[in-house]
Amino acid sequence: MNRIKVKDLLTSTAFETTVLVKGWVRTKRGNKNVSFIALNDGSIIHNIQVVVDLSIISEDSIKNVTTGACIAVVGKIVSSQGKGQSVEIIAQSIELYGGSDPETYPLQKKGHSLEFLREIAHLRPRTNTFGAVLRIRHAMAFAVHKFFNDKGFCYIHTPIITGSDAEGAGAMFQVTSLDLNQLPKDSQGAIDYKQDFFGKPTNLTVSGQLEGELAAMALSEIYTFGPTFRAENSNTTRHLAEFWMIEPEVAFNELVDNMNLAEEFLKYLINYALQHCPDDLAFLNEMYDKELLERLKLVTNNDFQRVTYTEGVEILKNSGHKFEYKVEWGTDLQSEHERYLVEKHFKKPVILVDYPKDIKAFYMKMNEDGKTVRAMDVLFPGIGEIIGGSQREDDYDKLLTRIKQMNIHEEQLWWYLETRKFGSCPHAGFGLGFERLILFITGMANIRDVIPFPRTPMNAEF
Ligand code: ATP
Ligand code: MG
Repeated sequence: MNRIKVKDLLTSTAFETTVLVKGWVRTKRGNKNVSFIALNDGSIIHNIQVVVDLSIISEDSIKNVTTGACIAVVGKIVSSQGKGQSVEIIAQSIELYGGSDPETYPLQKKGHSLEFLREIAHLRPRTNTFGAVLRIRHAMAFAVHKFFNDKGFCYIHTPIITGSDAEGAGAMFQVTSLDLNQLPKDSQGAIDYKQDFFGKPTNLTVSGQLEGELAAMALSEIYTFGPTFRAENSNTTRHLAEFWMIEPEVAFNELVDNMNLAEEFLKYLINYALQHCPDDLAFLNEMYDKELLERLKLVTNNDFQRVTYTEGVEILKNSGHKFEYKVEWGTDLQSEHERYLVEKHFKKPVILVDYPKDIKAFYMKMNEDGKTVRAMDVLFPGIGEIIGGSQREDDYDKLLTRIKQMNIHEEQLWWYLETRKFGSCPHAGFGLGFERLILFITGMANIRDVIPFPRTPMNAEF
């Protein structure tokens, strides 16, 4: 007999048919005559109720069917008499795959804190919360590919190990196969990287953008979707050391096209979640954040407010609000500033553009004023920055000047510079942090709770 998923079972009307269902026991309760087992297989947030007539299946034979155990049940589909479900199954036989000692199973009871669940990341996918988050995360990954594929973008796999330390987005993790206890030295006494795996120092990538640009200047419209790594010691609820990033890059796009693409993309993803994940979103809305669904609709139903950095700074300075960090033209905005603009001032998502050149990366296109660059950050309620992007500098001389001014190793970027020598063109792109998107869509408060196995300072257990 083929296994049927709980999701399909719950909407089935094939009453009296015998089916095979497998999953993990959430609870077992009952009395001398009957046992009720709530079974979940992760296909949907809801459980199927298995009714066990103890005059047919002996109580002793199911004594090890306890919370957390894995079982296979053959039974008959019936319409449910109980409240809260329309379908249940009457068990004919139950096979125990793996027991789960009630004395030691950590998820014996409901209502554990998210902090506790982080310590048992190997088991937390079995909770309703993480089941919901992981299903939504999957749906969003699929929607990312669907959005770009439907628009004719080409998915490019950019390298994870990079020979450049000048990607311009953050501190890097070094990759080496040298024996750290016996480092080879050159004649000057420095580490001899000629003996390292790649014959030079290498790092984990902080962004696929630079390589993405190379592809865009041949295929016109591309995106990347892969892991990125940042060795920044920022222990916040919005930063991971390993996170996934989506980076579209489009030839012939200027900043305004880039903003339009970012806004359309984010609205598409949120609408996709509203359409395809209603049960999981309803659960999260109920359990964690009663304004979640409203906030999602706020984003899809409003045009994003587009303002310059300079205007944004003026608004913040004139707000009369006491910020922890002072706002001054020329400094990077903190998340408290970004959130003030979004949540208090405009009350909708904001796209800030034209940032001072000194707080942005070398590759951003200079504006005519010589002081600001064509950067754009998309700011969201509850999150702050969710997207960072820009129109890229396409003029060889200007780009080289910026690289020199910012003391970046020009020799490591010769290949990047060559695209401005041969057939250069206006182009633009952005990076969406996948986990920040999932934070927003699930309404979870901590980025550690939207990735199965978070990598943060001092934490790489699982
Ligand atoms: P922040 O100022 O929040 O540190 P950033 O300016 O360093 O962000 P970018 O380099 O522009 O970010 O990266 C693009 C996107 O990647 C960001 O808008 C954000 O969504 C995401 N992102 C950046 N750093 C992290 C991180 N450490 N963990 C998770 N997502 C991140
Ligand atoms: Mg950063």
